[in-house]
Amino acid sequence: MLDFTPIDAIPKIHEGLRKTFLKRTSLSIAWRQHQLLQLARMMQENHQAFADALNMDLGRPAQEAYAMEINPLIERAVSSAKTLPGWAAPERKEDEVPEWQKSWKPTVYRTPKGVVLVIAPWNYPLILSLQPLLGAIAAGCPAVVKPSEVAPHVAAALAEYIPKYLDNNAYHVVNGAVKETTKLLELKWDHIFYTGNGTIARIIATAAAKHLTPLTLELGGKSPVIIDPETDMEIAAKRVLYGKLSNAGQLCVTPDHIYIPTSKHPDAAKKFIEAFKKAVAECWPEGALTSPNFSHIVNQAHFNRVQSIVNQSKGKVVVGGASDEKSLKMEITMIAGIEEDDSSLQGENFGPLIPIAEVATIEEAVEKINARDHPLVLYVFSQNEDVQNYIRENTMSGAIVYNDTVIQLAVNELPFGGVGESGYGRQVLRYTYEAFSYLRTSVDVPYSIEPMLSMRYPPYTKEKWDM
Ligand code: NAD
Repeated sequence: MLDFTPIDAIPKIHEGLRKTFLKRTSLSIAWRQHQLLQLARMMQENHQAFADALNMDLGRPAQEAYAMEINPLIERAVSSAKTLPGWAAPERKEDEVPEWQKSWKPTVYRTPKGVVLVIAPWNYPLILSLQPLLGAIAAGCPAVVKPSEVAPHVAAALAEYIPKYLDNNAYHVVNGAVKETTKLLELKWDHIFYTGNGTIARIIATAAAKHLTPLTLELGGKSPVIIDPETDMEIAAKRVLYGKLSNAGQLCVTPDHIYIPTSKHPDAAKKFIEAFKKAVAECWPEGALTSPNFSHIVNQAHFNRVQSIVNQSKGKVVVGGASDEKSLKMEITMIAGIEEDDSSLQGENFGPLIPIAEVATIEEAVEKINARDHPLVLYVFSQNEDVQNYIRENTMSGAIVYNDTVIQLAVNELPFGGVGESGYGRQVLRYTYEAFSYLRTSVDVPYSIEPMLSMRYPPYTKEKWDM
């Protein structure tokens, strides 16, 4: 059972962080670097406890826990500490301004916004709590982290270890559910970084608006896949499967559904389905339901939700379909022969489900994608540059990824985030740091240019006008 933070402690925590910020404790670069390295140490020294917590909450195989959450956090904490002095260095603008302003020392300072709140979801509960925290630390902002109560073991581990490694006057974990988060949202924060679904995002945005608090919203949506029928089906199927198997499809960038044009290649869908079936069999020769190499669905409610999408679908299950309510496991399940109004093509399925719809052409796939909300990612399997460019130029999404899935998360230098219903704001390393900083500008106007400035004072004579 997860210990929730007492409601009346929440305003006191907030007040404590405000005091720390006003004392400027969190501002020194050396102090921030130390906290970042402490966070790396926390992960390194307790990696087993975190891997176990992920396994208890999600049945997460150790290899996935390290590859997707633990190792990237250590790497990003260390790299943030290393590159922070460069990020935070004042940006001098002498070279960009006109000649007559060069002596004014025009400068941009990246300055901490203040006391910030991070609200995380359950699906990647560790990295999605701590990655925003890394940015807050780097930016010099004291922070509260509110992990998801739906992943209680990870939430408990964060509450246990963060106070042992980070400065308690600057960083706090608040655990709880709606009541606790509602209390947090009554308070004035200087930035809120929320990761989760679009419905709750609207509650967060409404609460933030009362205080004019800026937001980062990392949301989800249906990330579609377009398969060019001329691509290598075996490799494409394997790579789509990779995006679906991680955390049993409970991943914001998981491929949600597939469009495959078949007017010129009538057997393209059949070939893809066969290749996908083969790839699944290779991953779990003993079957996925009893395999330790496959996560379970987070809880009964989500299990029922995904199962009911399958039950209501008018399509045909062509791969997988079996599930085990006791272990909350569901095989990777592909549904074919569906229309746009099928249950499997409505909300984000956020599970091990992958519908495949035949369309006539690439243009039709693009039309269907544009008729929906802008996705977080659009996946395109095609080596044809004309096809790649056509799809990129005629659609919108947070990212467009050619010829693989999910691997884009490994490119730390690219900003990650959505557009429209998939959210706004960007993260990872420098971009998270930027989210918690504001650009404070400065000029220092020398007295020596007073003669040049005389024109601005009345009386506005012709002589001054001609200067
Ligand atoms: P969730 O249910 O854990 O909710 C997220 C957070 O919101 C939790 O901390 C929870 O306590 C809080 N919350 C819940 N109800 C609330 C309320 N009424 N008022 C205030 N706070 C409340 O997680 P979820 O939303 O189910 O997460 C899955 C969604 O997140 C999916 O849509 C997924 O695509 C998206 N997601 C996006 C990203 C990204 O980086 N873009 C990453 C992971 C997940």
